[in-house]
Amino acid sequence: MPELSFTYIIIGTGLAGASAVEGIRELDQKGSILLLGAEKDLPYDRPPLSKQLWTGAKAVEEIFLHDEEFYRKNAVDLRLGVEATRIDPAERTVHDSQGNTLHYQRLLLATGGTPRRLDIPGGDLEGISYFRSLHDYRQLRRSATAGKSALVIGGGFIGSELAASLCINKLNVTMVFPAPWLLERAFPESLARYLTEDYRKRGVTIISRDVPRSIERDGVGFVARVHGGREIHADLIVAGIGITPNIQLAQAAGLTTGNGVVVNEFLQTSHPDIYAAGDIAFTPQKILGARRVEHWDNAVSQGKHAGRNMAGANQAFRYIPFFFSDLFEFGYEAVGQIDSNLSTFADWQEENKTGVIYYLDSQRVRGAMMCNVWGKVDEARALIEKAQEVSVEQLRGLIH
Ligand SMILES: Cc1cc2nc3c(=O)[nH]c(=O)nc-3n(C[C@H](O)[C@H](O)[C@H](O)COP(=O)(O)OP(=O)(O)OC[C@H]3O[C@@H](n4cnc5c(N)ncnc54)[C@H](O)[C@@H]3O)c2cc1C
Repeated sequence: MPELSFTYIIIGTGLAGASAVEGIRELDQKGSILLLGAEKDLPYDRPPLSKQLWTGAKAVEEIFLHDEEFYRKNAVDLRLGVEATRIDPAERTVHDSQGNTLHYQRLLLATGGTPRRLDIPGGDLEGISYFRSLHDYRQLRRSATAGKSALVIGGGFIGSELAASLCINKLNVTMVFPAPWLLERAFPESLARYLTEDYRKRGVTIISRDVPRSIERDGVGFVARVHGGREIHADLIVAGIGITPNIQLAQAAGLTTGNGVVVNEFLQTSHPDIYAAGDIAFTPQKILGARRVEHWDNAVSQGKHAGRNMAGANQAFRYIPFFFSDLFEFGYEAVGQIDSNLSTFADWQEENKTGVIYYLDSQRVRGAMMCNVWGKVDEARALIEKAQEVSVEQLRGLIH
């Protein structure tokens, strides 16, 4: 079997992996790079898959992070549709699904996550969309035509975004999720209630506090039965019930893992030549505590940072990433700990539409969500980094 050597190998052609190429090339223009990924498409942005591609704000051709020329110009050996099957830290090798043994000096694991599947009878029926990739988007888009019925399982970020997008495309949407309201883990109750009601007014049937217990085929569609007894007939089913980080390679190689691949502040795993970034990385964070983050800015900034460190920068990752979403006309950018278990103060200019929600712990700002308020992420981040006690009076009107 062929043996090849590279200065850098990156496993995963997602946001973190592709961003690592940029980080490496900032400091090292010569070292050879192998970027290897299981998906067949060129690296692309995931957020538009559940939003802009459905509203017409973007076309598929616009979501690729770089064109092929970028990889050629940067001398990246890009291998798409190839899976890394095993890594051997002692030998510094990666084995791939084509039987190659690939040697590295520095390795980045950027393998992202796999959608969780419904562990119920019928949860593995063909045609249920466990939505994550451009391939999944293309499949769903083909079947999601106006007038059809869609069941969206899950009331978190992906479920809520997809339900809005399908509704905008004139499908009859039903949502089922275990929480009392949409996005209740992130949003304060009053906002979560308001948004849930807003979805209802737009024609989405909401079945909250319930989950499916079985799914069966029903002609060309499906019938789902929920614990509360209702039967939901749907032409298509999409599930957005979270992801499991792809840590199997790291586990099998004996790297330290837990809720993700454990890295230090330089984004190094328990083996110093192997780094991890993006959705899989369990990262120390001085102010917010160690965590694994499943958001775009985290994948981009960690990927780039890991790339720079692999090329010798050796800098600690201290950045607090932000995230964003759009639910019909409700758009927001958020930074820090967006957790409805914290106490919150909502500084609305227009209630539930425009304003800033602060998430507080012991009177210190831990997170801020700017609702239809744009370009204020840096201000909010600075407030979190200050970690000083603040009063509601001090927060009122502070960011607008
Ligand atoms: C539909 C959708 C919408 C989103 N919207 C938002 C949003 O609005 N705002 C926001 O902040 N975040 C959003 N996110 C989250 C954000 O896109 C992710 O956090 C980000 O994509 C994570 O990047 P990553 O590179 O860590 O992992 P991924 O993008 O998952 O990439 C990992 C890659 O590794 C590959 N891989 C896995 N194992 C192997 C292997 N053994 N060998 C080779 N390749 C392998 C996978 O196939 C995949 O291509 C969204 C995510 C999705 C799915």
